[in-house]
Amino acid sequence: MSEPTELPFHSTDNNNTTMAVNIPLKVMFAAPDVDLLSPPSKHEYYTQNSNSPKPLISFGIISDIQYADNDDCWNYDKTRLRRYRNALKLVNEACSQWKKIHDETPLLFILQLGDIIDGICFQNKKSDEDLQTILEPFNQLKSDIHCQIYHHWGNHEFYNFKRDTLHSSPLCSFNTKQIYPAYYGTFEVCKHLRVISLDTYETSALGVDETSTIYQQALDMLTKHNKNEDLNSPENLRGHQKRFVLFNGGISDKQLEWLNKQLTEASKNKEKVIITGHIPIHPSACEHLCLLWNYKEVLDTLWQYDCVIAVICGHGHDGGYFRDRKNIHHLTFPAIVETDPNTNAFATAHVYPDCLLIQGVGRISTYQIDCQLENILTSS
Ligand SMILES: [Zn+2]
Repeated sequence: MSEPTELPFHSTDNNNTTMAVNIPLKVMFAAPDVDLLSPPSKHEYYTQNSNSPKPLISFGIISDIQYADNDDCWNYDKTRLRRYRNALKLVNEACSQWKKIHDETPLLFILQLGDIIDGICFQNKKSDEDLQTILEPFNQLKSDIHCQIYHHWGNHEFYNFKRDTLHSSPLCSFNTKQIYPAYYGTFEVCKHLRVISLDTYETSALGVDETSTIYQQALDMLTKHNKNEDLNSPENLRGHQKRFVLFNGGISDKQLEWLNKQLTEASKNKEKVIITGHIPIHPSACEHLCLLWNYKEVLDTLWQYDCVIAVICGHGHDGGYFRDRKNIHHLTFPAIVETDPNTNAFATAHVYPDCLLIQGVGRISTYQIDCQLENILTSS
């Protein structure tokens, strides 16, 4: 399987649409260019024109909250402070804003992209208690505006709980009876738009018994590539190989088969698809250290179809963005836990008939993603 080759960021668009709708707006503003700014962006049209149409629906996105009732600590590289208690304050702010947005336009659900509490909760013997605390603002929002919360599972969920426990916890948002012990699912956002949520730790040595086949397979995969005593260390691994560390995982053949089936169905039903998960799947959208083990297989699968418009993940704490050669927008959300108190790191996605507008707050940019729902809606 060949390495993915990509269009450069400012390449020409082969769909006869303006590039202005396909790049993060902050980039556009940082380097204004008359060709890029004309015609006016849909973002300006939708948000600055009082007569503009309202979104069909909206939803919230947030990642790597890593709450803990614990004093702040430096991250592994000592480059960012992990502000564990501040994470709760930022989540409260996000939930208040989503509640306000719901007054204007229906906010149907929140994508919580994983690592809701930090591994340190387990060391403090406070996993259940801290989970309860951070779920409170979400539960309040749920009861105030009747929205769904779709939780994803990251490495920190598995530092605190076994996979078995998570299946019967408030963090289980999908019906997993047929696929147990895996955790993935799909739901309709609105007519012609669907979310497919992946289990990026289905092949993983985290959260499973050391006697299990899953553990053994994951360990075999890891030790084949990573010769370090500490399997969380990427020492001596280069480039994309850095992904073979214990805190990452992969997707099974069974899940890939399921993904193929879902994408075939979506294409047949003229649906556009947003893929979500904890671990990013494109090497240009995150540090290589934070990449899915079998990202190439997943990308190859997505590239067989024309329906995927975006892949939204967390895990890479500094965030990232890349538009790949099939025009799929890969968004890696920055971590709430490493966000300063005077800012934030969440987003609200607004679905319009002709685009998905992801409006970031604080560390997150605003993205316009052409999704052509208008054509689909008018032709059906
Ligand atoms: Zn993570």
